[in-house]
Amino acid sequence: MELCIDFGGTEIKLAVIEGASILASDRISVTGTTADLDAAVAASRALIERTGAPTAVGIAVPGVVDPASGRMLHANDKYGFLNDFDLRGWAHREFGLPSVIENDARAALIGETSTGSASGERDAVLITLGTGIGTAAMIDGIPLRGVTGHAGILGGHTTVDIHGPVCPCGNVGCGEALASSWALQGSAPHPSTGSGIGTVKDLFASDAHAETRDAFLRVWGATVVTLCHMYDPSVVILSGGILRAGDAVRTPIETYVREHLWPSMTAPRFVVPPEPEYSVARGLSVLAHQNHQENP
Ligand SMILES: [Zn+2]
Repeated sequence: MELCIDFGGTEIKLAVIEGASILASDRISVTGTTADLDAAVAASRALIERTGAPTAVGIAVPGVVDPASGRMLHANDKYGFLNDFDLRGWAHREFGLPSVIENDARAALIGETSTGSASGERDAVLITLGTGIGTAAMIDGIPLRGVTGHAGILGGHTTVDIHGPVCPCGNVGCGEALASSWALQGSAPHPSTGSGIGTVKDLFASDAHAETRDAFLRVWGATVVTLCHMYDPSVVILSGGILRAGDAVRTPIETYVREHLWPSMTAPRFVVPPEPEYSVARGLSVLAHQNHQENP
């Protein structure tokens, strides 16, 4: 049984998981201060009271995690307070348990290919659409990490438009700078984004912003094409709260990919997790369980 803590864009999601079963879960709002850590501890303890004691902790962050130290190397805005913070030490102090730390998109990919919607798949990519664009890749059953933990997770920071805005990451015209909720909120001005659109969810609530919505879908499609060209997956997992809009998101992306894929490639299968809110926690449970087995 594992305690899983997912530091997400707008909420911290908590779950206690055993195998494929979500035993209990909760979510709390993010304030962007160290108070979030205390709130996560309090909410976790409340969950544990209901489920019994877990044997390990899994923690996901929306940033780059150094595989050796388990520390977050780079965090954007809200989680600046976690930069170089010793999350493993924190988990040990608060819960007396060993822990694993993972990038959220990579954890989601591991979750969906293990006990989730793409169970058993060994060659897969995942793209999470929402506050930003998170990606991850798995080849022959191995989630890609690379020497410093960056492999596969920067799909939202490949250049989609060389004439596009400068992204806070330093690159130009990144998919995330063109088509994400924070891009809409003015962090990176884009000619197609009008006023009155708060998040990507608003784009799918009505046809009022059809032009912007179609531009976003093309950016997401182009990003998936790049992921396919780089990693040759058999399955593409589309995730994030925006996928509740279902086929309105999935079909245009899938069509774009089929139209622009390298000719000799086989078009991948597209999967939308039925419970995207648990993708990350499922992956954390698997990783924390493995770590506990290997280092009892
Ligand atoms: Zn970027």
